[in-house]
Amino acid sequence: MDNKNIKESIELIDAHLKNEGISRRDAMKLFGVGGAAAMLAGGTTTPLRASSAKAKIVIVGGGLAGMSTAARFTNSLDNPDITVIEPCDQAVSYQPGQTLVAAGVYTDSDINYKTADFVPTGVTMVNEKAVDFDPDNNTVTTASGKKIGYDYLVIAAGLKLAFNQIEGLGITESITSRGDSSAVKKVIGQNGICSIYFGDGAVDTWTNMQKFVEDAKSKKVTGIFTDPHTPIKCGGAPKKIMYLTDARLREAGARDNADLTFYPNGGAMFGVPEYHNAIQRQFETRNFKWNYRHNLVAVDPAKKVATFNKFWDEKGAWDEDLEEYTAVKKSEKVEVPFDFLHITPPMVAAEEIGKSAVGSDKGWVPVNQETLQHVKYKNVFALGDIAAVPMGKTGGSARKQYKVVVENVIAMMEGKPLTSKYDGYTVCPLITSLGTVMLAEFNWTAKPTPSFPLDPTQERWIWWLLKVYVLKPMTQMGMLSGKA
Ligand SMILES: Cc1cc2nc3c(=O)[nH]c(=O)nc-3n(C[C@H](O)[C@H](O)[C@H](O)COP(=O)(O)OP(=O)(O)OC[C@H]3O[C@@H](n4cnc5c(N)ncnc54)[C@H](O)[C@@H]3O)c2cc1C
Repeated sequence: MDNKNIKESIELIDAHLKNEGISRRDAMKLFGVGGAAAMLAGGTTTPLRASSAKAKIVIVGGGLAGMSTAARFTNSLDNPDITVIEPCDQAVSYQPGQTLVAAGVYTDSDINYKTADFVPTGVTMVNEKAVDFDPDNNTVTTASGKKIGYDYLVIAAGLKLAFNQIEGLGITESITSRGDSSAVKKVIGQNGICSIYFGDGAVDTWTNMQKFVEDAKSKKVTGIFTDPHTPIKCGGAPKKIMYLTDARLREAGARDNADLTFYPNGGAMFGVPEYHNAIQRQFETRNFKWNYRHNLVAVDPAKKVATFNKFWDEKGAWDEDLEEYTAVKKSEKVEVPFDFLHITPPMVAAEEIGKSAVGSDKGWVPVNQETLQHVKYKNVFALGDIAAVPMGKTGGSARKQYKVVVENVIAMMEGKPLTSKYDGYTVCPLITSLGTVMLAEFNWTAKPTPSFPLDPTQERWIWWLLKVYVLKPMTQMGMLSGKA
């Protein structure tokens, strides 16, 4: 999509907002996309700090969060000395677009970007993995044994997809969302077993979805959609793919033959009650089924049967001291046959980081959730999916976090206190059909925090335009240039 089309999309959104009594300028400012939207329209971007302070900054992970951080440091410092350690040559590809690839709206080439094209001028790239962290001596070691020293370390290494935790798939390694997927590709993407969480998986999901829809034209079919027991990136995506499958079935006039069921590990559709209620209503309207507290533990690809651990509490004995009944944990295995299975895999921090001195019991890098400074090592910061921050695993959160990290590192370099704070902002453009999106914005208060004076629980066409036509160029041109 070129700038002309983007501008046309922005104009369309503009016209709709005007109908609601909001100007585009106010809307974009409110939404915090002012930088990119204004940039596309030839205007200004979010203000940058200018500093002459000097230090060696090493960033581990050159995906969305890491490369945006590198770009903003480059823009803000007079004498930047920045090294990015990143092994993947498509690290900056647009992962949120994988959902749309899986539904035949985008193609992989629409979202696949070369890392090399987004490296800010002057930044040193090390195209390998960081495998060892020695924060007491301010060094990181790469896979080839190169020792790299730093004054400040920023960890932005994303997360790993742990398909290997699901029995029966024959998968022994975790993978990242972009890059080599050979460890899982022989089974995920075949036989109706799909996942949008990695690039090739999204392409194969579209192939499998088309077959599922075709089959539904002549026979009864079953589609099941999972949501695991770990934190995941983009909490809405497991449901988005279900809505899109529903939309493609309806488009083909085959919806009545398909049984679609959501199996989340959790006990609610969304952590924010208002969005939970809205989604439950949307599910009812579309005749979706759902079974809470089901965690996918095994798949038999040949028989096409998924096994879930179903769990619940039962009333136990009376506790004299607490003066209440104890709760007894119960569980059983439930087998579900499927024609189409969408797996949202368990997600974990990369072992080499999670189990290192900068990691934690759960693997995620422990930081102060506002300043994003490491809880133990004051010259280490983390952001994006790997940071142990509640509800923060989206590109929308990273868009807020990277500015905080840059501000705070520069403040430290200048000997000043850390005043920039992340407030937990997260956005989930929940695609509910081909043409509608519910723009769920929220923060740590677990209340809707809409940027626009519009009911955030409503599905709207303008948010579809924003999602499909504006957010991608905004991310690639605005965020990855460190400006928005
Ligand atoms: C299907 C899907 C849908 C999504 N939808 C949305 C959405 O609608 N809205 C939204 O805001 N977000 C969405 N997201 C989430 C968003 O893409 C991520 O939150 C975002 O990419 C996080 O950025 P990051 O830099 O932390 O991780 P990434 O962009 O994944 O980058 C991490 C990088 O670290 C590198 N790395 C890993 N280990 C090492 C190591 N040891 N040494 C060096 N480098 C390493 C990896 O190669 C990778 O390139 C979606 C994601 C997916 C997969």
